[in-house]
Amino acid sequence: MPGRSTHREAADRALIAEAYQSLARDGLVRHASGNVSLRQKNGFLITPSGIPAHDVTPESIVAMNAKGEPVSAGKPSSEWRFHRDIFAARKDVNAVVHTHSPAATALACQRRSLPPFHYMIALAGGDDVRCSDYALFGTQELSDAVLVALAGRKACLMANHGLVACGATLSEAMLVATEVEGLCDVYLRSLQAGPPILLSGAEMKAALAAFKTYGPNNAGRRA
Ligand code: 13P
Ligand code: ZN
Repeated sequence: MPGRSTHREAADRALIAEAYQSLARDGLVRHASGNVSLRQKNGFLITPSGIPAHDVTPESIVAMNAKGEPVSAGKPSSEWRFHRDIFAARKDVNAVVHTHSPAATALACQRRSLPPFHYMIALAGGDDVRCSDYALFGTQELSDAVLVALAGRKACLMANHGLVACGATLSEAMLVATEVEGLCDVYLRSLQAGPPILLSGAEMKAALAAFKTYGPNNAGRRA
């Protein structure tokens, strides 16, 4: 009879496959661009490499140990290094979503960070969403650059590549990915009318504080 951890892993595999497919439905992932992972007790689960979203099933998700060695069948995402390194460095993160979503990628190709042009930037944990240095996909160099850009944040852009979003849960990481993509889209539109007026440090500090009590999970707390 399958043990508790097997049931839990099966449920997490299904969650990841559904999340990856929903990114494709929402236009954040095309074909096999992007990947999704979820922390496990002794490692993490990650989407397979090069499999189009509509073909990703719970069984095709790959289990890896904390060193980044596969412990189940299949070839893990080529980006397993930054997923592994984020889980090792960030105890607040249990899920990682990477996309080549159009607006975030357009901005990342300019190697521009997202400045505090809108209060929702606070959702990513600070007053900007930084763009990392460029490095080849799948390399340790890219993982190192992502970790630097992600410091103190739940998202960063990757130069000439895409977006990384994190969360304490997979739903949070998905929300951050979707919102940051939307913010990049609005920022690019706003730029067309001239440089947007940025919020001040004090205004962003207030937005960050207000987010701590915003939403249904904080219903019992004073807003
Ligand atoms: P994988 O299919 O190997 O996950 O690669 C997609 C990707 O986005 C590489 O950066
Ligand atoms: Zn990528």
